[in-house]
Amino acid sequence: MSRIVFFCIPAHGHTNPTLGVVRELALRGHQVRYYSYDAFREKIEQAGAEFVSCDKYDITQQMSRPESGPGAAQRKPGTALQAPDSQDAARIGKDLAFSTKLLVDTTLALDDMVCRDMALFRPDCIVADSMAVWGKAVALKLGIPFVSSTTTFAFNQYSAKIMKQSFREMTNMLLSMPKINRELKRLRDVGYPIKSILDILQNDNQTNTIVYTSPEFQPCADTFSDRYAFVGPSIRPPSFRIKKEKSRLVYISMGTVNNNLPKFYRNCISALGGTDIQVIMSVGSCLDTRKLGSLPENISIFESVDQIAVLSAADAFLSHCGMNSVSESLYYQVPLIMHPLTSEQKGVAARTAQLGAGLLLKKESPAQIRRAVDYMLSNPSYRKNAAKISDSFKRCGGAKSAADKILKACAV
Ligand code: UDP
Repeated sequence: MSRIVFFCIPAHGHTNPTLGVVRELALRGHQVRYYSYDAFREKIEQAGAEFVSCDKYDITQQMSRPESGPGAAQRKPGTALQAPDSQDAARIGKDLAFSTKLLVDTTLALDDMVCRDMALFRPDCIVADSMAVWGKAVALKLGIPFVSSTTTFAFNQYSAKIMKQSFREMTNMLLSMPKINRELKRLRDVGYPIKSILDILQNDNQTNTIVYTSPEFQPCADTFSDRYAFVGPSIRPPSFRIKKEKSRLVYISMGTVNNNLPKFYRNCISALGGTDIQVIMSVGSCLDTRKLGSLPENISIFESVDQIAVLSAADAFLSHCGMNSVSESLYYQVPLIMHPLTSEQKGVAARTAQLGAGLLLKKESPAQIRRAVDYMLSNPSYRKNAAKISDSFKRCGGAKSAADKILKACAV
């Protein structure tokens, strides 16, 4: 029996793909311990892992406190990681210096507890989400075999071309390098052997890496070594059937993180209200839905939906192109109208467009939204291409291959 430790960031999109892997390892009789956040406890325990809460070390609770920004005074303890201010949420992923500080602060806050735990638990392997860099950092510090869990595309100089950064993002990154290096020195001072930001953010061809997509969907898959396992997304069957009210169903969601976008939702309502298309919108819990005005009869709005159930009945998905949403959509052969906001989402959208399974929304005006939806619904090629990618997902080894990869790393 092996002892395996997982680390993840508090995001459903990063946690969900690991749950099938945890279940598979637990079923094979291995001991799995999972460091995550209280909001994820239930599903992690249900998958068969021992849950360890990191909420006490939640650095994002200090984000935008009164001294650094408005809005923090009302924040309830323990809720910040799930719902950072939209201002902060937007900075994560765009501002590398800000993100690095957050990652270093989190690593240092967890350092004592995690190092003590690892000495007692003596894991055979640490599996960490590619953004839970504290997991990789502690594996490097303590010399424990490491496997990266990558919920977006694997990244190297070739695939990077599709994840193009804007000139502004690149300039910001260069300007922020001195700040980033100061942050990394704080890690080196307490024994983390981290020379550059790439040591923690990027996996080289020597790092065992699980990627939850197929080699066909991954850009430039042949440029990655056999340390990379493209295991495909693990997507559950729908737990119930949606009854379609009209012959066509369009689903709209901008994900769970940066979804407070009232103007965009209003544009969707004026684009599709009163048509013969049924529209289901998931808008998250941050938005005051009263701001959207009264709803036409063909549109329903929810804080959250069972996305798998909706997709299994949908004809098109207007999405922000988070990796999970796109994988789930393609798995159910649903083509995408794509409105990506971050560089990562733009990369996923570009690849989907390249394979003919999605259409980029040029502008978010009602006229453009209407045109894109009509075009997609009247062009069956998008659905056919989505079906090809779906087949490639189904040919992958899934959670079983991911578990094999982890156990191989344990055996080294
Ligand atoms: N999701 C859901 N119900 C909703 C909206 C989203 O179950 O109403 C799930 C969706 O199925 C996906 C995840 O939340 O698994 C969103 O992950 P993604 O990577 O697409 O985007 P993120 O939320 O991380 O931006």
